[in-house]
Amino acid sequence: FDLEDIRTTLITPTAPIQSATHGGRAKCLQRLARLDLPVPRTVALSFDVVHEIAHGQMPDIPDLLSKFDPGALLCVRPSSEDPDWGGPGTVLNVGMNDAAYVELSDRIGREAAAGLYQRFVQSYAIHVARLDPDLFDEDGGTSGSEGLSAALAAFEEEAEEHFPQSPEVQLAQVLRSMARAWEGTSARLLRQARGAPADAGLGLVVQEMALGLGRGECGSGVFQLVDSETGLLQVTGRYLSQSQGREALEGQGAIFLARDPRGPSLEELDPAAFAELKSHAALMRRRLRAEMQIEFTLENGKLSILDGVVVQRSARGAVRIAVRLCEDGIITPQEAVLRVEPQTLTALLHRQVDPKAARDVVGQGIAASPGAASGRIVFTAADAQASQSRGENCVLVRRETSPEDVRGMHASVAVLTERGGITSHAAVIGRGIGLPCVVGAARMKLSPEDRTLRTEDGRVLTEGEIITVDGTNGEVLLGAPKMLEARLDDAFRTLLSWADAERDIGIRANADTPSDAQTARNFEAEGIGLCRTEHMFFEPGRLTVMREMIFADRADDRREALERLLPMQRADFIELFRIMQGLPVCIRLFDPPLHEFLPTDRQGLRDLADALDLPVSVVTRRVREMGEYNPMLGLRGVRLGITVPEIYDMQARAIFEATLEASRDGAPVVPEVMIPLVSTRREVEIVRARIDAVAAAVRTERGRSFTYRLGVMVETPRACLQAGEIAQHAHFLSFGTNDLTQMTYGLSRDDAGRFMSDYVAQGVFPEDPFHRLDRDGVGELLTIGLERGRRGRAGITVSICGEHGGNPDSIAFCREAGFDYVSCSPFRVPVARLAAAQDAI
Ligand code: PEP
Ligand code: MG
Repeated sequence: FDLEDIRTTLITPTAPIQSATHGGRAKCLQRLARLDLPVPRTVALSFDVVHEIAHGQMPDIPDLLSKFDPGALLCVRPSSEDPDWGGPGTVLNVGMNDAAYVELSDRIGREAAAGLYQRFVQSYAIHVARLDPDLFDEDGGTSGSEGLSAALAAFEEEAEEHFPQSPEVQLAQVLRSMARAWEGTSARLLRQARGAPADAGLGLVVQEMALGLGRGECGSGVFQLVDSETGLLQVTGRYLSQSQGREALEGQGAIFLARDPRGPSLEELDPAAFAELKSHAALMRRRLRAEMQIEFTLENGKLSILDGVVVQRSARGAVRIAVRLCEDGIITPQEAVLRVEPQTLTALLHRQVDPKAARDVVGQGIAASPGAASGRIVFTAADAQASQSRGENCVLVRRETSPEDVRGMHASVAVLTERGGITSHAAVIGRGIGLPCVVGAARMKLSPEDRTLRTEDGRVLTEGEIITVDGTNGEVLLGAPKMLEARLDDAFRTLLSWADAERDIGIRANADTPSDAQTARNFEAEGIGLCRTEHMFFEPGRLTVMREMIFADRADDRREALERLLPMQRADFIELFRIMQGLPVCIRLFDPPLHEFLPTDRQGLRDLADALDLPVSVVTRRVREMGEYNPMLGLRGVRLGITVPEIYDMQARAIFEATLEASRDGAPVVPEVMIPLVSTRREVEIVRARIDAVAAAVRTERGRSFTYRLGVMVETPRACLQAGEIAQHAHFLSFGTNDLTQMTYGLSRDDAGRFMSDYVAQGVFPEDPFHRLDRDGVGELLTIGLERGRRGRAGITVSICGEHGGNPDSIAFCREAGFDYVSCSPFRVPVARLAAAQDAI
């Protein structure tokens, strides 16, 4: 092809048009032309041409105009490579002037011609000449010839010149303003935020207008075969007589498309046009292999298709649409899997407060992001991150949120703000990441200085108190009422079953409680990859016993306290095994430093002294003695297992007794027992010997046999390096990428939040390494650990169980490296299943 042909091309079925050179809209219009649909004559300008226009170099405008019927009115639409990147608004009716007005008055009537001219003057004034929009009120004001005269006068007054009459000048100015708008800073930032590269190009399409105004049935509308929200088959859209562009969606008086009990419809008004539209839409769906939205015009009953775009759709809609396209044989299951963005799935996975549960409502705001979640109140993003790293669910309470809070929001289970509306920062981000969110709870009084939140009925809540945010109805509840777990609907299950067929890495869930386990089951996790048992001790009745155990001076006293904890733990495990129905359950032995279970404030110390019947001074001293300068690197994990072995003995016994109990009425359960924070082989040998002894004792006492699998958490750099040695004593290695990231960078999980935004903003870290696995550093340690581990013991199971397990990029890393499975939070299981499949396709 001649280079000039490529730059400014009449769209025909064979013209050399590509999304990468002319943009997605130009390409799509060509596809419509290939389907022989009634598309008005259209010329595409390439990215190069538009770039030159922005920098003052106009193409040959008379030549461009000569490609259309003389005197035709034109519209100019943006055509970026990906429609999601946005672009300047469409300008209609270019070429309208006094002469065209006279000519059109004859053809379509004076009133209609005046309306059309007025619309053009208004949009030219605002979008091209950039005059004050208030002077050209697009919705209100007068219409007809009077309105036209007013608009022309306002233009002349403001622009200090006559409204340009030359179609050449008009077209050149429209092209220039659209090209410049694309290169403006805010437009660039906006599209980059949507994933566009810095140098993304803009194409423009110039199309002959189908007027939508005049004699006979004239008008315009948009048409699609599905409902955008649900994805269900249902003709949706609107039609407005005597209108243009997308006015049917904005203006009053628009009618339904299909017959509808609520009012008149195009199907009744013009059955032939409706039938034609339906068959065009079906053809587009089949041949363009997507649900499309059509922009159309009727001119005295004659239908024109102006544009077609892939329909906007909610996450739920996207799943249904992809599944049905596949079931109709239009796309393959693999394509269906690729059509849904994994991260959007979170929006569908909502927990709800059980309707039967009692609700202690303490506040009400705007229901900004659906789903409900309970957690402890925190007032800053940094506290939210600290709370997450302790494995505690928290609710971030802010006056309003800003970009600095986003990391804290990620670390929270819900967000509550005093101010804001449905499109405020918290609301937008909350919906984006599937986080339940209530905003504008204005009758609750937040006092960040005192770290208190006053409820509507005057109760004062402090940091750490548990509240529930119900983002589905906007209520804030005190405490944690029973929840109903989210479930997958049919389309969702179907899509994920296709994903599973492609996936070649296992997906388990990190689940600590029966409700987590139930969610994991509902989302079809292949087992529990990490049960953090310490969370079970935070329940009110248990905490006191736990503290008695910690305070015990003598082994006997400690044993006595542990004996009381044993049945509680056993019951927890029986429940987990029951819910998981024979799927693997990996239970991690106690990990955190003991002092985390002790109070820090005066009242707490006094209460503890009461409970233990000890003087406050003794309690205070003991608590102080247990404090550590650097507890994350202190007496925790296996180090406790070595120095206070009775705790692990009790947990092992609880696991094994639960195993026998749960194996009674089903297939035998094979528990997985995992030792945290290991750094040497000897630690494993010692702990393993004790666990084996407990297993033997339980077998003898109960006269029944069982097996178990012993695993090691590899989460210190040394454990990665020594994985070959360590593996000889383990059936499986599970890499704890949270601690491993912390220790590899020397970056505190609890404190990094304070400077993480600066680090990311200045490009020191491309992303928070606690969210997205650092492939270079932590990744290398993982690879070393995996290789050495496999060499140390052939066939050993290797997995990761840090927060990274649910991150699509990190999952891709794990596939490449050859991990057997990843384990992530239950709500991310569907995301992980889809992301792993997409990576495999
Ligand atoms: C880890 O360190 O990656 C891990 C899973 O354990 P925790 O987050 O409980 O320290
Ligand atoms: Mg850890």
